[in-house]
Amino acid sequence: MNGQMMQQPLLISSLLTHAERHHGDREVVSRRVEGDIHRTTYKAMAARSRRMAKALAALGVQRSDRVATLAWNGYRHMELYYAVSGSGAVLHTLNPRLHPDQVTYIADHAEDQVLCFDLTFLPLIQAVAGRTKTVKHWVAMTDRAHMPVGAAAAGIPNLLCYEDLIESQDDRYSWPSFDENTASSLCYTSGTTGNPKGVLYSHRSTVLHTFAIALPDSLNCSAMDCILPVVPMFHVNAWGLPYAACMVGAKLVFPGAGLDGKSLYELFEAEQVTVSAGVPTVWQALLSYVEANGLKFSTMRRTVIGGSACPPAMLRTFGDTYDVRVLHAWGMTEMSPVGTVAAFKPRHAALSREARYAVMSTQGRCVYPVDMKIVDEAGHELAWGTEASGDVLVRGPFIVSRYFKDEGGDPLRHDGETGWFPTGDVARIDADGYMQITDRSKDVIKSGGEWIGSIDLENIAMAHPAVAMAACIAAHHPKWDERPLLVVVKKPGAELTREALLAFYEGKIAKWWTPDDVVFVDAIPLGATGKMQKNRLREQFKDYKLPTA
Ligand code: ADP
Repeated sequence: MNGQMMQQPLLISSLLTHAERHHGDREVVSRRVEGDIHRTTYKAMAARSRRMAKALAALGVQRSDRVATLAWNGYRHMELYYAVSGSGAVLHTLNPRLHPDQVTYIADHAEDQVLCFDLTFLPLIQAVAGRTKTVKHWVAMTDRAHMPVGAAAAGIPNLLCYEDLIESQDDRYSWPSFDENTASSLCYTSGTTGNPKGVLYSHRSTVLHTFAIALPDSLNCSAMDCILPVVPMFHVNAWGLPYAACMVGAKLVFPGAGLDGKSLYELFEAEQVTVSAGVPTVWQALLSYVEANGLKFSTMRRTVIGGSACPPAMLRTFGDTYDVRVLHAWGMTEMSPVGTVAAFKPRHAALSREARYAVMSTQGRCVYPVDMKIVDEAGHELAWGTEASGDVLVRGPFIVSRYFKDEGGDPLRHDGETGWFPTGDVARIDADGYMQITDRSKDVIKSGGEWIGSIDLENIAMAHPAVAMAACIAAHHPKWDERPLLVVVKKPGAELTREALLAFYEGKIAKWWTPDDVVFVDAIPLGATGKMQKNRLREQFKDYKLPTA
C-alpha cells in the first residue's frame, strides 16, 4: 500500500521560491568585482533568476545542457545557480584557479554550451575562448558600462553582457516541474592525480544534502543567521550554503574576490555575520590580520572549517581568543560534500575544555543520511573505539555512484544493496562514532611497513608559535623505505631551528613518529581549492637525503 501524501519532486527551484515567498525581504549582500558593495533581497533575486532562466532558453539552452560559470561568490553567481538548475539545465561551476589547459579540458569534457564569467577572469577566458569545442556563448557577468571592449574582447566569440540578458526578459516564468533525479549541477574533483572527474548531482541529492547541512548538529543554519560563505561557489557549491540559506531564510553575504584578511574582516563586521565557512588556509590569513590589529569579532559565533584538517591550534585560537566556535567538518566533492561534522553529544558537556577541544578537532560524526565504515586492506570492517585505522567507505543518497561519462569505471565497492564509495581517506573511528582522519591514502607515510599519520605531525608543528604552515611528506629512507620529512614555512620574522622544532615533538607522539628532518621553505604550493599540494612537494623532495643516524 502506498502512502497518501502529495507527490512533490524535490527540486532546487523550490528552495528559491520558498525564500522569495517566506523571507522575501531578507538581504543578499555582495562585494562586487566592480569594487562596490551591492545589496538585494531574495524577492528581487528570485525575479532576476527567472529572467535569466528565460534568457538562457532564448540562447537555446535546453534541458540537461551544461551552463558553466567561472565566478566568485556573488549575487549574479547565485542567480545562475537557480536559473540554470531550476530550468532543468546543469550548472557547471569551473574552478578559475586551474590552469587554462585544465579549464579547456574540463569545459570540453562537460560539453559546456554557455560560459558565464566574472571580469576578473577575462585573461583566463582569453586563453581558453579560442580553444574550447562546445561553448557557443560567453557571458560577462557585468553591466554594459563595464563590458570589455576592443583588444580585451578580441578573440571571444559571441560575447554577451549579463545585465543585457536580464534586461531582455520579463520575470513571468514558472519554474518547470520534472523528475527529482534529473541532473542539476556538475563539479569536477580537483584531480590531484589523473584527469579531473565530474560528479553530477541531482535535484533530489542537492535538496537532501541541504536538509542535512542545515540541521542543528550540522551547520545549524537558521533565519536568525547571517551567513558568509568564504568557501567558493566553485568549490563543491560552497558546501551547499547557497541552498541552505534559501531553505532557512538566512541573510547571505558574498565576499567576491576580497578573500584577504582585511576585506573579510570588514565584511564580517559591517554585515554582522554570524556564521562562516572555509578551508584552514583562509582562516590563517584572517586570524593573522585580526591578531596584528588587535581586533575582535563582534557578531561571528560559528565557523565551519573543512576541506583539509583544521589544525587544533587554530580551533583553540578561535575559541579561547575570539569566542568563535569552530565546526570541523569533513567531506569531498563526491559527497556533495558534507559527510561528518564534529558536533557534541550530551556526554561531552561534562568534559574539560581540553577534552572538548579534542572532540572538536576530530572530523566528527556522520550527518544523516550518510553512513560510514572503516576497513582493513582485505576489506574487512574494523571495529570502532580502537586505535586501528583503515580506509573510509561511505554510502548515502547524496554520494556519487559513478563519475560523469563513466570516467574511471565503477568507483564503488559492491557489498550490500547500494555499495560503498571508497573515499581515499584513512581514519580511525572512536566508540561514539567520531572519525579522526590520519591521512589520505596517497599521503600516508609507510615506515618499515607501519603507517605514520602525516596530519598528526603537521598539527603538532602548526601548534608551534613560530610556524605558519607545515606539510609532512614521505621521504625515501634506505632502511625504513619511507620516513617523515617536515616542510615548514616560518611566520614572518620568527626564529626557529630544526632542533627546536623536533624537540617540540617530545612527549606528544610515539618517538618513532618524530620526523627525521625539517626543511624550511618560503612557501608551500597550494592547489586550486587552497589545499597543500603534497604531491608537488613529494616531487620536489624525491631525491632528498635524510640524515642517517
Ligand atoms: P580533492 O580530493 O581533489 O582534494 P575535494 O575538495 O573533494 O577534492 O577534497 C576532499 C578531500 O579533502 C577528502 O577526501 C579529504 O582528504 C580532505 N578533507 C576534507 N575535509 C577534511 C578535514 N576536515 N580533515 C582532513 N581532510 C579533509
